[in-house]
Amino acid sequence: MNTSNQNKIIKFLFNINTTRQICKVCGLPDYFNFNVPDKIWQRIVPRIYQNKVVCLPCFDRFATIKNINYAKYFSNFLFVGDKAYFTFKIIEALDN
Ligand SMILES: [Zn+2]
Repeated sequence: MNTSNQNKIIKFLFNINTTRQICKVCGLPDYFNFNVPDKIWQRIVPRIYQNKVVCLPCFDRFATIKNINYAKYFSNFLFVGDKAYFTFKIIEALDN
């Protein structure tokens, strides 16, 4: 077994992905990439997290708490998995 295969097995067994970013709010691995304009990010995300990784569920929770709509500003929605990568095309974007 070569080193590359050993590393893959170790990463699988211990669920280690050294490249994956961790949300600084909830501490979970961040599988989704998205963009909103800076002015929306700054209104929704508390100052202490503004220059940190914030996952989409945490971002959505902050927007809910502050009751700020962001659906129409949402773009570049990607799922970045360990094995596959998807770019989402937004068909509909509505605020609750
Ligand atoms: Zn989070």
